[in-house]
Amino acid sequence: QLFKDYNLTEEIVRALESLNYEKPTEVQSEVIPVALAKKDLVVKSQTGSGKTAAFGIPICDLIDWKENKPQALILTPTRELAAQVREDITNIGRFKRIKATAVYGKQPFAKQKAELKQKSHVVVGTPGRVLDHIEKGTLALDRLEYLVIDEADEMLNMGFIEQVEAIIQELPKDRVTMLFSATLPEDVEKLCHKYMQDPVHIEI
Ligand code: AMP
Repeated sequence: QLFKDYNLTEEIVRALESLNYEKPTEVQSEVIPVALAKKDLVVKSQTGSGKTAAFGIPICDLIDWKENKPQALILTPTRELAAQVREDITNIGRFKRIKATAVYGKQPFAKQKAELKQKSHVVVGTPGRVLDHIEKGTLALDRLEYLVIDEADEMLNMGFIEQVEAIIQELPKDRVTMLFSATLPEDVEKLCHKYMQDPVHIEI
């Protein structure tokens, strides 16, 4: 399997070349076609498998550059992961000029607010700070099409379940939801059942 089998936009193919991604990893070859078809997804895979690009590539491909409001929201359990995912998305979306903004705690709220006022195609953040921005009206979610819950088991272990659910309540019902997790304990399965429509299960 090759990246060119997916009919990706030329700008995305070029970015993958510049990143020296020659061919999809296993999780990427399973996830990319399903995500491009806009189906909900539950993916059991480890960090290091290339999971960030597995959702980053289809999301960057599907994003409409002209839309000013966020189209994708990626929730992560930690600030470090949020920063890493933002960087990966920026690299994959570079030639499409995709703007990704990271919002997480222990960082000035005002600076993030100013960034969110600019065009942001993708917002990556930790649940508490994302909810903060929603409540203060600084994060518009009415054009949101893609939600990614990354490292879901970690997210729930860290006690973020209520915040994650509160965020989901604010999102348009007509969206694609993708969940990635190293393990699938019952509370993660429950979350999938509650907020996804007939998800495709992928296990690496
Ligand atoms: P992740 O599992 O998302 O943390 O990715 C692990 C590492 O694999 C990162 O350093 C990525 O840049 C790299 N990577 C992701 N996809 C590919 C690919 N298709 N070819 C080569 N390296 C990749």
